[in-house]
Amino acid sequence: MSNATPRVLIAAHEHEFAAQAAQEFITLLDMFDAPLVTLPTGMTPLGFYQALVNNHAHRRDLWDALRFTALDEYHGLPPGDERLFGAWLTRTCLNPLQINSRHFFDSMNDPAGEAVRMDEWLQQNGPLDIAVLGLGNNGHIAFNEPGTGFDIGTHVMTLTPESVQANARYWGGIERVPRQGITLGLRDLAQARHTLLLVSGAGKAAILAQALGGPVTPAIPASYLQTIKNVTIIADRDAASKL
Ligand code: PGA
Repeated sequence: MSNATPRVLIAAHEHEFAAQAAQEFITLLDMFDAPLVTLPTGMTPLGFYQALVNNHAHRRDLWDALRFTALDEYHGLPPGDERLFGAWLTRTCLNPLQINSRHFFDSMNDPAGEAVRMDEWLQQNGPLDIAVLGLGNNGHIAFNEPGTGFDIGTHVMTLTPESVQANARYWGGIERVPRQGITLGLRDLAQARHTLLLVSGAGKAAILAQALGGPVTPAIPASYLQTIKNVTIIADRDAASKL
C-alpha cells in the first residue's frame, strides 16, 4: 500500500461544489480513451449530475467513451423497481448523458453468485479508472459498512440500522428500504486509478475529518482513502469545517 495525501478542494457554496465536482470529473475523463467509471447514488451528487447534464452534455466524445459499472445495489428488487440504484442512475445521469456502456448488478441474482460474477467481470475489464464516491454518515463507502476489511472484493452486506434510516428518506419510509445490498469491495475501490470523493453538509464534517485524519481502520471504511494515491476530495465548506 502506498500513502499519499489526498487533494482537498473546498467549495464555498452548493453551486460551486457541483461545478467543481463536474470539472474535476471531466478533467479525469479526458485522461483516458475508454475510462471504466463507477458512480454514486445519494443526495450529495445530485448537483454534480445536474451540472454534467447542463454544462457538459455536448462532450459526446466523453460520454461515448465512458464505460459505466455499478458501485452498489440493493439485493432482491425486481427489474423496473424505482428503488434500484441502477434505475436511479439511469434516470439521473446515464440516460440524460446518453452513456451507453452500462454494467449493472442483477438485484435478483443469488447474491453470492452475483458477487463472484462481478469480481470476474472486474478482473476482465478493470481495474476502475475513476471511482466517484459519496461518504456515509457512519463512514461507509458504497455498502462497505463499518467493520468491512480493506482486502474484500465484491460482496453482500446487511445494511446497518443507520444506513437503513439514511436511505428511508429516498423511498418514503423505513419499511421500503431493502435490508441487503451488494457492493464493490474496498479492495476493488482501492485499485481505482483515480478517486473522487464528494462530501457535503455539516453532518459529514466529523466523519470526513476522522476518515482523512484519524486511524486507518475498518471501523471507518472511508479511512482506506489514506492508503491510496490519486484521491481528490471535493467538500463544501460545512463538510470541510473540521479538517
Ligand atoms: P448521501 O449518501 O449523499 O445521500 O448523504 C451518501 C452515502 O451514504 O454514501
